[in-house]
Amino acid sequence: MLRWLSNDDRHKEPEVYDNVVEGLKRIYKSKLLPLEEHYRFHDFHSPPLDDPDFDAKPMILLIGQYSTGKTTFIRYLLEQDFPGMRIGPEPTTDRFIAVMYGDQEGMVPGNALVVDTKKQFRPLSKFGNAYLNRFQCSLQNNSVLRSMTIIDTPGILSGEKQRVDRGYDFAGVLEWFAERVDRIILLFDAHKLDISDEFRRAIDAIKGYDDKIRIVLNKADMIDHQQLMRVYGALMWSLGKVLNTPEVARVFIGSFWDQPLQFDMNRRLFELEETDLFKDLQSLPRNAALRKLNDLIKRARLAKVHAYIISSLKKEMPSMFGKDSKKKDLINNLNNTFTSLQQEHQISPGDFPNLKRMQDQLQHHDFTKFHAMKPKLIETVDKMLSDDIARLMQLIPHEEAENIKNTVVKGGAFEGYNESPFGIGKGEGVDKGRGEHEWVVAQEKYEYDDSFEKLNPVNGKITGAAAKGEMVKSKLPNSVLSKVWKLADVDKDGMLDAEEWALANHLIKIKLDGHDLPADLPEHLIPPSKKDCVN
Ligand code: MG
Ligand code: CA
Repeated sequence: MLRWLSNDDRHKEPEVYDNVVEGLKRIYKSKLLPLEEHYRFHDFHSPPLDDPDFDAKPMILLIGQYSTGKTTFIRYLLEQDFPGMRIGPEPTTDRFIAVMYGDQEGMVPGNALVVDTKKQFRPLSKFGNAYLNRFQCSLQNNSVLRSMTIIDTPGILSGEKQRVDRGYDFAGVLEWFAERVDRIILLFDAHKLDISDEFRRAIDAIKGYDDKIRIVLNKADMIDHQQLMRVYGALMWSLGKVLNTPEVARVFIGSFWDQPLQFDMNRRLFELEETDLFKDLQSLPRNAALRKLNDLIKRARLAKVHAYIISSLKKEMPSMFGKDSKKKDLINNLNNTFTSLQQEHQISPGDFPNLKRMQDQLQHHDFTKFHAMKPKLIETVDKMLSDDIARLMQLIPHEEAENIKNTVVKGGAFEGYNESPFGIGKGEGVDKGRGEHEWVVAQEKYEYDDSFEKLNPVNGKITGAAAKGEMVKSKLPNSVLSKVWKLADVDKDGMLDAEEWALANHLIKIKLDGHDLPADLPEHLIPPSKKDCVN
């Protein structure tokens, strides 16, 4: 009775979601998970997602060869040590460390982490004890960690050292994290740039997540400008080859620690780069919902392709004899299966899993236990992609606007990186010399005394007509020069004395350096002898 009605979901009201994360949890469990389970997606690709995966704070994963400054970078962001932190020239971090917020500082070993149902690390138990002994969580009461979790990783070895076997699937672990983090920061050392085989494999493992990758060319102050340009070029070239993407991820050049710069001619560049990188990291909490949504879409597409592959292998299996040889056959010719599925379902080759890896994994499976195609499962996921995802997408701008205030990363190096007197543009331009005892122009006055004398001052002063010829050499337009003249004529007598002339040249330099001129002359630029002309 009435079954036709309850069974017809075209008449169902669309589900209402309170927020993106709750919506994602629900559609994952009710629409995608059944497809994943039916075709053993978890054995092949990625363990099932759990609520903590969706609830987790934004995560940043740091990857780099040893001694590229990963741990130091974290210390720099937090402006605080964290438990278990070791920094040094030799490979010092021999483990994965999830640096997370805690009311009290402390450490939790990997074995305990993977049984904690509130944390998102449970699936890592599949990498075995050798890995769990090399995994820990460091808790620190640090306000940066209130909005993000940072994953430190063991330094990747190069040359001889890399033959040391880690005893666990290092690339597999990286891939597990890559799927779940919001940012992957690849660190390179500008003064010894080499890309080892293990590093290449590491980059390979995170390849599917190009959009999360940011690259930091660290320790860039250790080399001079010319070397830096050369290293930058070499890095872009190797990355282009390793990442196989035409547009290489953004590279930030800098020196992310709190020590004096060795070559400081690029100070301004480093400061700008740092600001950009901080802005990027600041945006993570705000964009976390969108990131989770994107990752779920990616996962759903892979789950569909996987279902096609498994059910097609099942279809090819004989019901009686020759099962083993048929299985061998199917594995060897898996590329043909891929090709025909691509054509049949119009799926791009890029959506397919790695062929070699899939072949390896299939060896361990009994094809007769695979399930046949169940179109209803695929339809549900298709509907999820077209309807539910679209509706969750609509919530995002609203959520971002709501959260904009309480999701700003606070504390550590984020604290006022643009408010401090040492931030970008501070202590430069018109600001230069502010708060200093000495008149800042005094240091450069001697440079302008010659030109002053050449302008034949009368009673120690020159007129505008005399000064004009010299001032236009700056190539600044007249509107700017007349502003300079007005600002520099501090005592308003229509002429410039030697001090005022130096000030005029100082202002011209400020403008030529790309800074703005002030409307009024700030206190610290007034020549000491004229303090009483301006009250
Ligand atoms: Mg380290
Ligand atoms: Ca004057």
